[in-house]
Amino acid sequence: MSNNSPTSSRHPSGARSPPPTSHQSPNRDVLSAPIAPSSFYGGNNASTSGLGSSHTAYIPPEASPFREPELVSEEPVNPGTQQDTVTSTTDWNDVGDTPWQFDSAWAGNWGDASATKIVDIDGRNEEEELNWFDAEMRQQCARPGPGVLPPVLAHLLHDSAHTLYSVVPSKPELQHDAEHRPTTEEVRTAVPHANAYYCKEDNGWIFLLWRFSSVLPPLVNGFSPAHPLPDLERRKKSQPCVGEGEQPFGQVNMTHHWHHYPQAVDGKALNPPFSQSHGDCDLLDLYLCCQCSLYCLASAVIPGVLPRNLVENLTREKRTHPSPDKTPKASILATWETILTIIQNRLFRNETRLLPVTRPRFNSKIGWSDLVRRVFETLGFKSDVFSESNNELALHPPEINPATPEGKLNRARLLRAWVEIAAWLTIFEKTNKDPLGNYIPTVQEVKTDNVRELIQSAIGAHVNQIPRGLVPTSLENAPGLDEAWCSLGLTPTSYLPKLLCFAYLAQCRCDPANTKTYFTHLFNIVNTMINSHETPPQELQSLIMDERARFRYTADDLREHISVLGFGRDSELGVELDDDVDDEFILQAWRNARRRAWRDTSKGAERRKDLDEALRAVADERGSKVLRKAWEEERGSGMTPDAAYSTLEVPKDVDESMLITVYMMRIEDTPSQADRMREAMNVIAEVTDSERLRQFLSSGRDPGDLSNSTAPDMPRGLNQLGNTCYLNSLLQYFYTIKDLREAVAPLAHADTKSLDDSKFTDDDLKRHRVGGRLVTRREILRSKKFVSQLAELFFNLEYCEEPAVTPSLDLAKLALVTSQDEEEDDQRTTGTDSSNDTDATLVEDVPMRTPHERSSPSPIETPADSVLGKRHREMGSGMDVDEPLEPPSAPTSPPHDAVPANQVASSSKLKEPEDVEMQDATPAKAPPLPPRKPRPTDDSVMMFGRQHDVSECMDNCMFQIETALLDFQQEKAAIEDDKTSVVKRLFYGKKRQRLTPLTASDDTRHKSSIHEKEDLFSHLHVNVSEEGYDLYDSLGRYFDDIVELDGQKKRMEVSLVDLPPLLQIQLQRVQFNRETQQAYKSQAYVKFGETVYMDRFLESADPEKKARAKGVQAELNAARDRVQRLTEGKHAPFAPALGGVADFLSTYAVDAPEADESLVAAVRDERERVAAQLEQERGRAAQLKDALEDVWRGDRGAAYELTSVFVHRGSSPSWGHYFFYSRHLPERPDVWFKYNDSSVTVVSKDEVLADTTGSTANPYMLVFARKGCETIQTVKRFDPQALQEMQE
Ligand SMILES: [Zn+2]
Ligand SMILES: [Zn+2]
Ligand SMILES: [Zn+2]
Repeated sequence: MSNNSPTSSRHPSGARSPPPTSHQSPNRDVLSAPIAPSSFYGGNNASTSGLGSSHTAYIPPEASPFREPELVSEEPVNPGTQQDTVTSTTDWNDVGDTPWQFDSAWAGNWGDASATKIVDIDGRNEEEELNWFDAEMRQQCARPGPGVLPPVLAHLLHDSAHTLYSVVPSKPELQHDAEHRPTTEEVRTAVPHANAYYCKEDNGWIFLLWRFSSVLPPLVNGFSPAHPLPDLERRKKSQPCVGEGEQPFGQVNMTHHWHHYPQAVDGKALNPPFSQSHGDCDLLDLYLCCQCSLYCLASAVIPGVLPRNLVENLTREKRTHPSPDKTPKASILATWETILTIIQNRLFRNETRLLPVTRPRFNSKIGWSDLVRRVFETLGFKSDVFSESNNELALHPPEINPATPEGKLNRARLLRAWVEIAAWLTIFEKTNKDPLGNYIPTVQEVKTDNVRELIQSAIGAHVNQIPRGLVPTSLENAPGLDEAWCSLGLTPTSYLPKLLCFAYLAQCRCDPANTKTYFTHLFNIVNTMINSHETPPQELQSLIMDERARFRYTADDLREHISVLGFGRDSELGVELDDDVDDEFILQAWRNARRRAWRDTSKGAERRKDLDEALRAVADERGSKVLRKAWEEERGSGMTPDAAYSTLEVPKDVDESMLITVYMMRIEDTPSQADRMREAMNVIAEVTDSERLRQFLSSGRDPGDLSNSTAPDMPRGLNQLGNTCYLNSLLQYFYTIKDLREAVAPLAHADTKSLDDSKFTDDDLKRHRVGGRLVTRREILRSKKFVSQLAELFFNLEYCEEPAVTPSLDLAKLALVTSQDEEEDDQRTTGTDSSNDTDATLVEDVPMRTPHERSSPSPIETPADSVLGKRHREMGSGMDVDEPLEPPSAPTSPPHDAVPANQVASSSKLKEPEDVEMQDATPAKAPPLPPRKPRPTDDSVMMFGRQHDVSECMDNCMFQIETALLDFQQEKAAIEDDKTSVVKRLFYGKKRQRLTPLTASDDTRHKSSIHEKEDLFSHLHVNVSEEGYDLYDSLGRYFDDIVELDGQKKRMEVSLVDLPPLLQIQLQRVQFNRETQQAYKSQAYVKFGETVYMDRFLESADPEKKARAKGVQAELNAARDRVQRLTEGKHAPFAPALGGVADFLSTYAVDAPEADESLVAAVRDERERVAAQLEQERGRAAQLKDALEDVWRGDRGAAYELTSVFVHRGSSPSWGHYFFYSRHLPERPDVWFKYNDSSVTVVSKDEVLADTTGSTANPYMLVFARKGCETIQTVKRFDPQALQEMQE
């Protein structure tokens, strides 16, 4: 078989074999190795273990040969050395059907029922185990990692279905001394090594050595194990784990704990050396017990002279096609005995005659076949035509004269084969019980002894040491436990309750990092018993109780804990608990959840307990000292707030200074009650969410009036209302806008009646448009309600003394549900006219659904559906300038569903002749994205109706504010609205869009090919997909883009005609992957600063500069495209990929003729070239970017200052956590507030402007205010001080 592939050539048979390839490795490795017995039998220094083949006889254990799994020992294990000191407080016989539960009463018991007493095990360290999650401590303790118990080691040493034999050959007694006859020493050393054992199934050998020694065997040079070696000092000092009479102080360990170090020892360095290959070294696997000084060395299978499959095939052929006069067994024996005789004759009688293979004698004994030919050729015989006349075939025996190198090799090979076949025959004859007929087998010159029990005794796996077959039926065939047994280093057949305890404790001791995994497996095993109505043994019950009391948790527990804390996509926080979430955030979530739990009178206590447990588990899982400390200090009792106040004997409205004074007094008076007082203080700190009390409790010092979060002049937070996610950010943002706040203020506290004053006629209604359409009476009423609620919230934000305000449910509903949704719901549920009373249509309290559940089946629609923003550049519908100005036919048509934000209020576009050039623009025909489909019906049952994405919600709020504030008093109506509407005045600018053919060959002067129109906008939607772009780059792409319209690519240029006071830039983080057909969130960092200058985007910008910038931009785009081609795509980045190819070619593919040195060199050159080119392009791009900025450096007339940043945290485009930054304007522009639901904190501008690369928390909307417009007044708080001063 010739094959260039480096992978397939190792397995000529193509068999699926396990990685240790020596099992299958080509036989020539052995054959070509010069086997010089003197080289591996150094002097007379016999193996000290004295247990191997050929040198020493050994005394077999008393027990008769057995097959491991069936055996059951009647004797108890190690009687008298163990005592069951555990007493359980619960009757486990009652477990029955009830699920696995732990009574908290047990937990208190673990101190004396310590796990250490359940089984004999030493080397544990309580502190280390309690801090298993502490990476630093793990590093210090350097434990050896996972281990296995002896029954598993038996499997690891050699396939446990196979039996190993020691083999002692002796020289045949012959009358004549023949030439070149092997010496007694040669015969004795025909086995591979004194410590080699024969396996008939493999027709091969295993080197196996075990020793009690404080000295380790010689490790290979540069040995660097995956896990540290066990503590060698400890191994030296301790007694063997298994054995009798050697442990004066009683048994310390129940059994060995074995650790595997693959290929750790060089066989050649042993004495005597072990050497089979001619390679650099013969690597042996090392197994160390971490508790005593026993170690074990094992080789992979050393293949015999005849490959395993050759022996099997010939044997099978004889079994299925026996000689007519013999039974199958006799036929097999006769064949191999004849082969053996031929070898023996050659070796010991110097038989050199040809062996005719077609004659009857050979045929009756062996028969000539291709298999037989291969057997003999492998042995060194050559088949040939020996007589020209009759064309007869014969075998030429090999030369065995030790004086020639070839003879020496043949001789050693033949001797080895002789020993192997003789051993094979002896074992086969002994163990095969098939009938022999009248055949009398030959007695062989080789003595074989089963060493299975010897080896098992040596490593502690003997049935007298660990009984088998005691596994309860519930575990015996339990599916899914394989992983559990394997992970704990135990086999199911050797299960014993105490052994399982030992295995678990030993794994946790030696591999603390995976404590959770081991506990999960232990728990699964015990739980499997319970589920099949079996009472788990006392030891296991106690162990699980002990471990629970030490805060062990399973993988399932952890998932549960995480959701208890409110994490997970369907939970209230709407964010996964991943590495990106910091400790502070988790702590906040825990405190909030605990506070909410206090309000729950029925299940609050239970919930608080769950929360405490959850925090502890999450702290451990993350190895977080911060969380662990918080858990220790703040975890609560079952004390209710009422009990807490009465414990301290204070009224509920006591102020904090007084409370602290009273507390200190009480402790001084009754020190015995200190713990209880402290507990009460903790509860009060928690219920009142007092940072001051919290700090006092943890430091023992009163920090004074902390004010930070509750200072009168601090902005107030907004408590979370179910899944309102992004709404709080939006409401806070609105509150920072002074003009908006003032415009809605008069509507606060208005009653329904005063809102519903219909002092306007239907004609009045027709004169006003909002969002490009007419509005209904019902919409006006609804909008007024919304604005009234908003005004009330604003009032609370101004006057409330609490740190956080709770928005009303109505406000949330009105903000999140559009009037369109509402009417659709009406029609669906009642089938009545949409002019029904609005109140009736609000949705009842039904389980709420999160936005992601609404995800649409249409892949194209998905990105648009996101909570992170609208689809990018809905330009098709943006060109609808030729639309008639008449009101839309259906006055209730949705304001937002089909109309993008950049066109809201398109009614106000100019009616001037700019439009005349657009006759042939037919945008309505083929918008690039389909309009949104009607929503599925089941959405109407959501708590807040349909949840929309952020910008839809924002549009809905702006629409309602505008509608509510419509002024029906004045005559001129619609046109004047632009001036009177606070929404239009603050947020809307005017832009000019220009669509031109892409190709320069087109006549750009041709009027019909240029389209231009003006339009209002309230947001700029900027695409975010590539790394390394700043805000100007992103905006640049918005203002000059290539779009596809009617299947044709066109250039779309946008310029700004009028600038709004507030510039809202939406970062389109939701992108669509065409390959996977899925929407994803782009986490790309877009650099932005405190100021942005919009001059370059103005219609009035210097045309000369514009042209210059355009040229630079084109070059820049080209350079960036080249960088992108070299760094992105399926096989990119290319430079490292090419380097990898070169490495591969030079290392592994030497056999391939085409992979010569020049190819490798060429690939390396290419790599250098690509790397250099990439560097050059990057440099060029940076230069061009600078040049572009230089063009505009002087233009700073249209300066905008950053005022607000909306952040989304999470990796999913459709859900996550939202928070909001607002700059402290106008007073302290360097200070920012972070609004995170109920908490508002002061942060530096560095946090706001930080590079978010690598984080999933990044901005999705930026708001800039025109410099000098003074629209933003971030903090608006009622100041009683000022009022007082005024009165004085
Ligand atoms: Zn084997
Ligand atoms: Zn041991
Ligand atoms: Zn261990």
